[in-house]
Amino acid sequence: MIDVEYDPNEEQRYECFDCGTIVRTARPTVCPDCGSEMRNQNIPLE
Ligand SMILES: [Zn+2]
Repeated sequence: MIDVEYDPNEEQRYECFDCGTIVRTARPTVCPDCGSEMRNQNIPLE
């Protein structure tokens, strides 16, 4: 896992790896639709 500092009180956009659902939340979670891992969109893919 990539560990990046961010403000834990600030909502971030997370996109589901599996179905693409986007959720705004202040903490990492799992997809509400399919339960898959979600990716923080504020962290650019390299
Ligand atoms: Zn999903």
